[in-house]
Amino acid sequence: MSHRRILIIYAGGTIGMVPSANGFVPSARFADDIGKLIVKHHGAATHHRLITLDPLIDSANASPHTWHRLADLLWAERDHFDAAIILHGTDTLAYTASALSFLLAGLNKAVILTGAQIPFAMPVSDGERNLQGAFACARGPVREVCIFFDGVLLRGNRARKWSTEPGNGFHSPHWPHLAQVNGSIDINTAALLPPTTPQHDPPPAIGTGRAAIVTLFPGIDASLLRAAADHHRAGLVLALYGAGTGPTADPAIRRTLTAISADRIPLLGISQCPHGTLNPALYETGRQLADCGVIDGRDLTPEAALAKLHTLSCQRRPPADLATAIAVPVAGELTPANGT
Ligand code: ASP
Repeated sequence: MSHRRILIIYAGGTIGMVPSANGFVPSARFADDIGKLIVKHHGAATHHRLITLDPLIDSANASPHTWHRLADLLWAERDHFDAAIILHGTDTLAYTASALSFLLAGLNKAVILTGAQIPFAMPVSDGERNLQGAFACARGPVREVCIFFDGVLLRGNRARKWSTEPGNGFHSPHWPHLAQVNGSIDINTAALLPPTTPQHDPPPAIGTGRAAIVTLFPGIDASLLRAAADHHRAGLVLALYGAGTGPTADPAIRRTLTAISADRIPLLGISQCPHGTLNPALYETGRQLADCGVIDGRDLTPEAALAKLHTLSCQRRPPADLATAIAVPVAGELTPANGT
């Protein structure tokens, strides 16, 4: 295990940021520190290679192009690494991790995203700890896209940014930790994705459509949904209330949702609640939303739901039955109705 080849991709984020007159900005200077840190913690014989992206970004500026750039890079390098670590900003880390889990489903290698909420160059930074933990996990048996943060390894497409402060940065409300690192590494083998046969297809090319997330709220006007669908034809993630309800007493909402799904723009329902799964059949309004074409997204996170719609829209032949395509987990992102 100790001779594993680790590819490190430095994409940006607070971990390597420096102060500027306008606030923190990404800096390439951190690239010099990465190699030193690895030698300090893991010895000079460690086999690692560093790729620094240009430009480095605040992950607030990440887009689907960023996801595809990373996926294409990992795919192109796949024969030259056993595990990869991506240093990335925390703000959209869960979106990138989710997208990579779908774009690279079947890669069968650990891809671990990490970062920091305090720059490495500052005292009390969490950056060194996170990089060290990610490195320890990269040498273990994990074969999926994950996030390492604050001592825990989480499935990437189950994780959410939870706090703006170090110590509690990411949570995985519906899936247990894959590993804990506290001096030694403790792997939760039962929670890992089983190894798969490596895929031979490259990630799909980016499509022309974009997906969006629309959160329902009291007073929402149907025109907001229509406008969102017109500009995001890859689909709308609808963040519904509670178990999957919405303002169906408004006939314009029902008419608009029905028209959007008739246009074959997927409507994927998830809950606004951070915990619990959707149960659209529980309330009349939930059933009415289902009748309008809203698909049950079960316990998908918003980040995974958006990335899943995006990836489906990139397929050369989009699935005929979107509801079934969404209900079937691709990379452990949702708990199917039978609970397995
Ligand atoms: N704005 C930063 C980013 O996402 C925040 C961070 O890295 O913690 O790049």
